[in-house]
Amino acid sequence: MKSSIKYTGEFCPKCGGRLSYQGQKIVCENNYGKDYERRNLACDFMLYTNYYGHSVTKKELTELLHNGRTDIVDFKSKTSQFKGLLRLTDNSVKMVPYNPCGFTCPQCGSEMVRTRSGYTCSKHILGDDSCQFYIPGTVAERKITEKEAKDITEGKLIILDDLHDEKGSLYSTILKMNQNFKVRPTQKICKCPACTGYITISPHTYCCTGAMHNDKGNCQFVIGRNIEGYDLAIKDIIDLCMTGSTSFFVNSKGQKRRVLIDENMKPYIY
Ligand SMILES: [Zn+2]
Ligand SMILES: [Zn+2]
Ligand SMILES: [Zn+2]
Repeated sequence: MKSSIKYTGEFCPKCGGRLSYQGQKIVCENNYGKDYERRNLACDFMLYTNYYGHSVTKKELTELLHNGRTDIVDFKSKTSQFKGLLRLTDNSVKMVPYNPCGFTCPQCGSEMVRTRSGYTCSKHILGDDSCQFYIPGTVAERKITEKEAKDITEGKLIILDDLHDEKGSLYSTILKMNQNFKVRPTQKICKCPACTGYITISPHTYCCTGAMHNDKGNCQFVIGRNIEGYDLAIKDIIDLCMTGSTSFFVNSKGQKRRVLIDENMKPYIY
């Protein structure tokens, strides 16, 4: 029986035992299976010889055990081919898909990859946790597209419309990357030029939080999101609040227009 064991030449990361090939698996020699007598000594470390159509080579086994991961290789499922790698985490071997997005991490410059839950820095996927940059794939059940994820990495603010709150009411919000490279929904676009509050977004307006709640005596700074057929962009509203004017835009009649703020701190179109 002993003589038929085919050892891999590598050792168990958990207990140091020799690893051997056993059918479709590579197992630790201290894995006694159902041997009740020696159960307490048993080591359950194992991995498969093949993951998603890819046979684990001797070189990959060595990399996995010594570096915690393999290089990126080709896998295939029933329906598709994809790239990925094997990772050793907490003495357990897992296949991790690797789908590059075509844009880079704003925090460390590494490639960004698509994961099941969103968009993440490839460093993290490759086992280096020094960068944890991440963009969620959905916010309040609203999908974040690859284009929007790319825009976020470039510092742009993304408008999310048609979201539903707990009561089922429609609301809008902004998805933004903050100075610490955390991507979060926020109601804050910029400071209100008329008071100490800030400008937020609603389904049809950009408005000061004071105006939004319509409390008497509070700030009334508010402007529609659509001006004569032109959708005011986030950049426009920031320009307006910071400089007192948007850039020129063209309305639905082909006329040049811009939004300014009058002496009573009310926006007007000219
Ligand atoms: Zn072991
Ligand atoms: Zn990164
Ligand atoms: Zn205000």
